[in-house]
Amino acid sequence: MSRRPGFPVRLDSPAPARPVPAPAAFAGARAGIVGIGLDSHAVRARMVERLAGQGIADARVLAAMQAVERHRFVDSALVNQAYEDTSLPIGLGQTISKPSVVARMIELLLGAQVDAAGRLGRVLEVGTGCGYQAAVLARVATEVYSIERLRGLHDKARANLRPLRLPNVHLLLGDGMAGYEKGAPYAGIIAAAGGQDVPDAWMEQLAVGARIVAPRLMADGQQALVVIEKTPREMKQTVLETVRFVPLKSGIA
Ligand code: SAH
Repeated sequence: MSRRPGFPVRLDSPAPARPVPAPAAFAGARAGIVGIGLDSHAVRARMVERLAGQGIADARVLAAMQAVERHRFVDSALVNQAYEDTSLPIGLGQTISKPSVVARMIELLLGAQVDAAGRLGRVLEVGTGCGYQAAVLARVATEVYSIERLRGLHDKARANLRPLRLPNVHLLLGDGMAGYEKGAPYAGIIAAAGGQDVPDAWMEQLAVGARIVAPRLMADGQQALVVIEKTPREMKQTVLETVRFVPLKSGIA
């Protein structure tokens, strides 16, 4: 009976008759980007398990988080951290949100009206950044309008999303504080940057029965995640956990 050599093979052990395939994790560590590409399904499956353990229960959200390859949206030097629950720099002083925050916000967004297939209608995303969250949204909503005020990131998102060929994602360069009138009314509005107030334009462009999920600066100076629901009579705000997002700024640059 032939014994499989231990791994890594000791230098002084006899060479195996045939090359022994390296375990995937080791091959990934050695091959860097290529490695994580090859093995990323399993790495994402572990990320999704962690998200479920943290309380994300919506199967649509978990499936979308499993499907979108986050490592394709970060700089090559950060690829090894792509599936850790951490925010990462994407250039121009901005960050990609951590997976648990993306999943949490989309789950909250989906708590509103969906169609018979469980899909949200048209969604507005304020703050495209590198385009990662737009790609996740594309899997749970029929149309995604994503607006970014920094040209450099708008271009980066376009380049990141091109190979994914998502016909339902529309990238816009502009000041998202004014929303995007042409796509209104929205079945959901999600913001990746937070200011003192939630802009009036977002409330106006929201469909009745739909929700805004956004970070907002509270009186104590901390940012909190808020959900604002539009009912036929009022806008109803629920304040949730403390979060840390980049500031919502006006104008384009
Ligand atoms: N969802 C993004 C996260 C990007 S960080 C991702 O997956 O990568 C938030 C982004 O909001 C930044 O790129 C910032 O430039 C942008 N932003 C801030 N204020 C904005 C505004 N008024 N309109 C559009 N984008 C804005």
